[in-house]
Amino acid sequence: MKKLYFKNGQLYNGKEIKKSDFYVVDGKITFKKQEKVDEICDIKDCIVFPSLFDLHTHIRCPGEEYKEDFDSVTKAAVHGGFTDICSMPNTKPTADNQPIIDYIILEGKRYNRCRIHPFGSLTVGLKGEKLSRMGLMKKSGAVGVTDDGKCIQNSVIMIRAMEYASTYNLFIMDHAEDINITGTGVLNEGEISDSLGLSGVPEIAETIMILRDIEMSRYLDIPIHITHVSTKRGAEIILKAKNEGVKITFDVTPHHLSFTEKDCGSFNTLFKVNPPLRTESDRKFLIKLVKSGKVDAIVTDHAPHAKFEKEYPFDQASVGISGLDTAFSLLYRTLTIEEGIPVEKWIDLISNKPRKLLKIKPITLMENKKRDFFVFNPKEKWTVTEKTIYSKGKNTPLLGKKLKGKIKYTVFQGRIVFRDGG
Ligand SMILES: [Zn+2]
Repeated sequence: MKKLYFKNGQLYNGKEIKKSDFYVVDGKITFKKQEKVDEICDIKDCIVFPSLFDLHTHIRCPGEEYKEDFDSVTKAAVHGGFTDICSMPNTKPTADNQPIIDYIILEGKRYNRCRIHPFGSLTVGLKGEKLSRMGLMKKSGAVGVTDDGKCIQNSVIMIRAMEYASTYNLFIMDHAEDINITGTGVLNEGEISDSLGLSGVPEIAETIMILRDIEMSRYLDIPIHITHVSTKRGAEIILKAKNEGVKITFDVTPHHLSFTEKDCGSFNTLFKVNPPLRTESDRKFLIKLVKSGKVDAIVTDHAPHAKFEKEYPFDQASVGISGLDTAFSLLYRTLTIEEGIPVEKWIDLISNKPRKLLKIKPITLMENKKRDFFVFNPKEKWTVTEKTIYSKGKNTPLLGKKLKGKIKYTVFQGRIVFRDGG
């Protein structure tokens, strides 16, 4: 294994950012001076952070390799500073059985750039009817279960699914949405949906399911995690339940923290996501919660699509944003540059907090630890283009936009798996 020397940079040790040169020897960080090294990385102006962990990635494979494949998704991940991604089960076929989980883990290991932690589905085919073989999936390495993209509408099935998942100690994540209330809605219900003449999704489509999940968690005494909370009301309900002792956690996405329904105002389908972008007051509230440390995680909800799938009228275009490549730089823009929150105050939300949620050991960059990290230059600018992002899904509203803050290296198990400029 190569001996690496990172010099002239700063290191985040979990408490503060300090100037320090260090080496990577046999995959471990050391501050002891080494005689001979294989590579010197001059990281002037840069900060070294524990690698990122995404709790919510649509890897699209197997089955939809035209949107994303194992090669492209792992490249996009490490370009974005992630050494760990959790795959969502809405692949084709659905990850509702052991062989698919085995296959995803195997392919992840084959490319060996980062770890893929698969989520299995709660129900067979994400149909919300028959429970999936959760025990066998857990045996193969599934870390959690979710019907993300769909939401189990039948409450009896949801109760049984939660009970079954908890017998295997599987992390339960829900995409909270009452699909009958959503109906044909394609963006937030309000001023913008009215002016565009498109049907809207009211916040109650989200909040009513959050309330249901809270009551189920309370009744069953089983923890539940609500992913991509988009509304102020939704977050308020969760915080209140937490205060009452309900074992509920939640996450938000970089796009809900950065954009609003107004961005859909020119029918730009690149802003079409589910749950939809909400109002400025929702966005500001979620930022406030990040600031005060009340959010449990930030997830990308990386949802790559082929170009043509976004080139339909707004109501017919595919739903989702490709996010792995740009998540950290976008968060840096929104939270640090615009809102003045130092990176040290929010990085855990997309690094060690999700690890803790899944009971995976957090990363501290200290002597003699086998650790994954990435090197970030907060001063360097880059332009997001189809060429500068590694995901096959070029569907990001940041296309053509300049971002300040660039990832220079990602190190996974002692190896450089991403390096800026090749
Ligand atoms: Zn979802």
